[in-house]
Amino acid sequence: MAVIAFIGLGNMGGPMAANLVKAGHQLRGVDVVPAAVEKAAQAGIEPRADIAAAVSGADTVITMLPAGQHVEDAYLRDGILAAATPKTLLIDCSTIDVETARNVGAAATAQGFAMVDAPVSGGVTGAENAALTFMVGGAADAFARAEPILQAMGKTIVHAGGPGNGQAAKICNNLMLGIQMISVGEAFVLAEKLGLDAQKLFDISSTASGQCWSLTTYCPVPGPVPTSPANRDYQAGFTAAMMLKDLRLAMGAAGSTGANLELGAKATDLYDAFVDAGHAGLDFSGIIRSIRN
Ligand code: NAD
Repeated sequence: MAVIAFIGLGNMGGPMAANLVKAGHQLRGVDVVPAAVEKAAQAGIEPRADIAAAVSGADTVITMLPAGQHVEDAYLRDGILAAATPKTLLIDCSTIDVETARNVGAAATAQGFAMVDAPVSGGVTGAENAALTFMVGGAADAFARAEPILQAMGKTIVHAGGPGNGQAAKICNNLMLGIQMISVGEAFVLAEKLGLDAQKLFDISSTASGQCWSLTTYCPVPGPVPTSPANRDYQAGFTAAMMLKDLRLAMGAAGSTGANLELGAKATDLYDAFVDAGHAGLDFSGIIRSIRN
């Protein structure tokens, strides 16, 4: 079993690290928020004062941080690459921009480390239940080393290609998701205005060509899918702020590659306005409220 340094013990990182403990690994944890470290300690993760202390002598380092700047700082400035030994496997599970993922991956590779970007889908519930999907970018040998560790935290592990391709897959997926949730919300609002019952629309479209995850698993009106956030007043789930973050990552990638994403741009504007109106912490499916109003 491996000695694993886990950096970033927040909503996702905390339960992911706890599942690695359950799988028999020895975990060292670091977070800038003391409460996160204390909670992790209760799940068997040994607190370390800083990144260098956690990484020194570890077999594997996993980061689960908010954004690209945190990841760049952690690896290049705050000690991961400096404190890791050459055999240490590096896994970044944060959702960040492709460019930063490739830059950090290149810096790690240049120093002889195996590194993968391995962002996740499945949210906090997926993290708690070790049921995440990992989209992994990196060299084949780095993927082969990372896969058994990721299996302790997830159900589906996909090698998406070279460095940064895990992040590319994640933002392309969430671009689809953000647009689809708006399209499903618009359809339910139009149905309301046309006097078409929401359950009827669900019964028809969930087996017709409008079928998609935003409809069948995460239906934005209460009733048809009892587990969807609409049934608990849009308590997240996956917050509108997170969706906006991912759409901005997609739009940033579109800008740097010359891809023309007209619906992506519009979806970003709509989530931006929704978040600006004070709904950052609501589930992203709550966007139907601003469509209705
Ligand atoms: P979070 O804010 O709950 O956790 C991030 C943690 O990193 C925080 O506890 C923070 O204190 C810590 N941190 C920040 N800088 C640090 C540093 N220098 N050293 C140590 N710790 C530091 O966020 P989260 O919900 O756990 O999300 C983490 C990543 O996973 C994000 O990139 C997010 O986009 C992605 N993600 C989240 C979800 C979700 O549903 N929450 C789903 C998929 C992907």
